[in-house]
Parts: sequence; structure tokens; C-alpha cells
Amino acid sequence: MAFPNWRIGRALGIPIHVHASWFLVFLFVTWSMATGYLPETLPGLSPPRYWGMGGIAALLLFLSVLLHELGHSCVALRYQIPIKQITLFIFGGMAHMGKEPPSPRAEFLIAMAGPIVSLILGAELSPGEPWPLNPCLRDRRAKDSSSSGAC
Ligand SMILES: [Zn+2]
Repeated sequence: MAFPNWRIGRALGIPIHVHASWFLVFLFVTWSMATGYLPETLPGLSPPRYWGMGGIAALLLFLSVLLHELGHSCVALRYQIPIKQITLFIFGGMAHMGKEPPSPRAEFLIAMAGPIVSLILGAELSPGEPWPLNPCLRDRRAKDSSSSGAC
């Protein structure tokens, strides 16, 4: 990747970098949301509000990509595989592993961890999600005020 990238923080002890190409996707997603999806689904709001909401949606998209990569990284770290950094770029994210997984089973589990995180995020955060795993959200959506628990 020839363009520059910037370190924006750390997670699980892993440096998180954003590549310059990420900004193209950020602008495209923000523009797409602000001029298409949001005005159609939430009519009557001001253009600055659509752009703000679009920007937040783009940031949340990349937060989900980051969580996906942290899923891969978390399992890799359990196998003592160092993660040099996670880079967010135009095609999503990439966790840079410091060495090869020790076995095919380890490689399979590392490969599966990211998509499993994405599936859980999709299941938990989709409106009317089919698998309400989080009891706090399930209770809130069912408008059942009688159940309290630790939510
Ligand atoms: Zn992945």
C-alpha cells in the first residue's frame, strides 16, 4: 500500500492504523447515505443532518470492520501469534499476523473468528433481528418492562 497510513490508537495491545484509501470509502459511504438512503427512509430532515448521520454511519461501518479484525486477532493471540497492527483501508481491514498459525485447526479458527463477530453484530444490531441474543435488547424490543436484570 503506497499511500500513507496513520496510527489512530490501540486495541488489545494492537496498534490500529487507518490507510489514506480509507477516506475514499468514508466519503463514498457518507455521500451515499446522505443523498440516497437517509432522505428516502427519513424524509423531512435538513441536509446537514443527513450528512452528519451519513458520516456516523460510515464510522460505524468501519467500527464493525475493526471489530471483525479484532475477532481474528483475539483468536490469533490465543495461539501466541503476534499481531503487528490492524489496518483499515479501502477494501475493509487487515490484521497483520507476525507468523503463520501453528496448525490447520488454528488457521481455521482464526479465519472463522472475524465472520462470527460480524454475524453476531448483524444479528444483534439489525432491526427485527431474528436471533435476539442480547437479553437487554430483546427485553427492550419486546417492550417488556417487567424484566430488569442487569441491563
Ligand atoms: Zn476477516
